[in-house]
Amino acid sequence: MAAAAGLLALVGCAREPAPNLVLLSIDTLRADHLGVYGYRRDTSPNLDAFARRGAVFEHVYAPAAWTLPSHASMMTGLVPGRHGAVGGDRGIRDDVAVLAELLAAAGYRTDAVVNGPFVKAKFGFGRGFDSYVYFEKDDTEAHHDAVLRALRAGLARRPSFLFLHYMTLHIPHRPPPEHDRFSDPGARFPGIAENLRATKLELEAGRRVVSRAEVGYLRDLYDGEIVHLDAMLGEVFALLAAAVARDTYLVVTSDHGEEFLDHGSLIHNGTLYDELIHVPFLLWGPDVPAGIRVPALRGLVDVAPTLLELARVPAPPGLDGRSVLEAFGDAPQAERVLPLLTGYPEPERALLKAGVRTEEMKLIVDLATGARELYDLARDPEERRNVYPTGARRDDPRLEALERAVPAGAAPSSRDVQLTPEEREALRSLGYIE
Ligand SMILES: [Zn+2]
Repeated sequence: MAAAAGLLALVGCAREPAPNLVLLSIDTLRADHLGVYGYRRDTSPNLDAFARRGAVFEHVYAPAAWTLPSHASMMTGLVPGRHGAVGGDRGIRDDVAVLAELLAAAGYRTDAVVNGPFVKAKFGFGRGFDSYVYFEKDDTEAHHDAVLRALRAGLARRPSFLFLHYMTLHIPHRPPPEHDRFSDPGARFPGIAENLRATKLELEAGRRVVSRAEVGYLRDLYDGEIVHLDAMLGEVFALLAAAVARDTYLVVTSDHGEEFLDHGSLIHNGTLYDELIHVPFLLWGPDVPAGIRVPALRGLVDVAPTLLELARVPAPPGLDGRSVLEAFGDAPQAERVLPLLTGYPEPERALLKAGVRTEEMKLIVDLATGARELYDLARDPEERRNVYPTGARRDDPRLEALERAVPAGAAPSSRDVQLTPEEREALRSLGYIE
């Protein structure tokens, strides 16, 4: 793999000025709804075409199923139990190093353009940034223009780190008419897309049934939003095409997926099945092998260590993540074990489920009841048959190893976050709180 060797050589060359880094997080993007990840619909032509110039990591998983803890893991290289940002009133612990701080200390100019309340600076995400600009989800055009401006400015100087975040796919699902290409105009379900959180809660309480036609309609709207997002990505990639061939590394990923009754519910938050944690992860840059697909298991916790290695900045000791660049080398790699921890933003429901995912198995623990689900992912990738054993068969050493890797809970956060009435309203409109 000559190109891969070139990448590692470039990263290791201390005389070259440090490269530019762009981290593009698409909120709520299920990997399996993209053409490059095998989707049957043509939702993402621009991303699919640009992906051929870079590396596609096929099996990357978020450690949680909602925005705050997953982005905090991206930015710290730590699992949620260690960075502390696990509930809507808890930010990243102040004693935990964040990616932008480490890059700024190494001389990087750092800028962010974000689009959702749970990546606001007050949760600890603003540390280390020279500028951190926030847009509401509905400010679509102003936000996209700001992203393009930040890219033009960032790519023109070196070294530069840009964190760009799009909320386009998050509920409420409302694709613009020109991109709403999959929903049947004759099959409208008034109100369901607008009141999705209420529908989710009624569904989970057993007071509501959502029909196949209704969930199909929601999926059609979501796919239309991906088409809208992909049109904007086309403009982003046009700015980046020359840069990634020259001096810039780009990572495109997501914080979690979205459920369409895959396991009896909607939206995201409270479970740890793959429709909520399998996320895209694509890497471009000078000497990144074009068109390579990496099947090995990786986690969002790997984002910060990867970007630090590309910047030639030492990673803090003891991170849970590891640089994905090792996938391009020839050295044998140890099997990964990814701890999982998720809940809702409300403090009393901040921790609901813990778990662990390996390439072949997933164990999920209900933290309230202790109930356990075990899935043999090699035979049952859709997680339909709980094979958690009864009685003496629990002594299986492989199961004991999984049990040991399940997080027991979360370290207390040293950053209490108070939300303003306006922020609570924004969270309400996005379906996060009552
Ligand atoms: Zn999110």
